[in-house]
Amino acid sequence: MCALLMCLFMFQDASQDNGDFVVYRAQHWQYTGLANHLHDIQYLESFVAEWNSVLNLPMDIAVRFAECGQANAFYNPEEVSIVMCLELLDYFIGVFTEHSSTAEEAFAKALGAYTFTLHHELGHALVDVLDLPVTGKEEDAVDQLSATIFLDDADPASALPVLDAAFWFLSEAEKQEEAGVPLSDLPFYGEHSLSPARFYNLLCWVYGSNPEEYQFFVTDGLLPESRAVRCPNEYDKFSDAWYRLLDYHWKSEYE
Ligand SMILES: [Zn+2]
Repeated sequence: MCALLMCLFMFQDASQDNGDFVVYRAQHWQYTGLANHLHDIQYLESFVAEWNSVLNLPMDIAVRFAECGQANAFYNPEEVSIVMCLELLDYFIGVFTEHSSTAEEAFAKALGAYTFTLHHELGHALVDVLDLPVTGKEEDAVDQLSATIFLDDADPASALPVLDAAFWFLSEAEKQEEAGVPLSDLPFYGEHSLSPARFYNLLCWVYGSNPEEYQFFVTDGLLPESRAVRCPNEYDKFSDAWYRLLDYHWKSEYE
């Protein structure tokens, strides 16, 4: 509760644009060529320009590549920084090379999964910096933000990063199955939902965003009908929730 004038002051203050997403370039040693190529194609820069054009921020959020010693990506709240490990893209290139006919195709799909991950980390950054409420697993909520960004577009091609990420989760699940990992060794305690669940979530949300376009998910047996019937409603609910959470933070021309 707050007195009306104080509330107005607080809201007015919160809506100001006092920051931007800022891309930082760093020295890399092992993946220099990859990092240079990504900067050449303005990979981070183009997404950051898009985010800055629609969102007001209370402070700067750094976005950068890093060599992390592991295939990962994360948001660091102490540094207010989204860190995209180059090892993760390298790992994705390996995953997709096994299933692509050309190196170009493998790179495009690897970059798709990496892009889905970048927007997942964007979700963590926004939850922190905008102090957004989250109920349920934050990891699932930020997968939902990333999915919303790519699926809320009439052009089916914009869904590709979500489909590439779904394939990554499927390949993770298959690797676990092939390795004979016993059920008791799976990280049920982890903050992330397990890979097979994330695979089906993404399929469900892609289908839910456009059931006519993706009807074949159901008819081809990729997505069980028992889940599919609920997906349009599931997608509408969480995409609407994200729009409402961000409502106050859009730049005025996007309100
Ligand atoms: Zn996460």
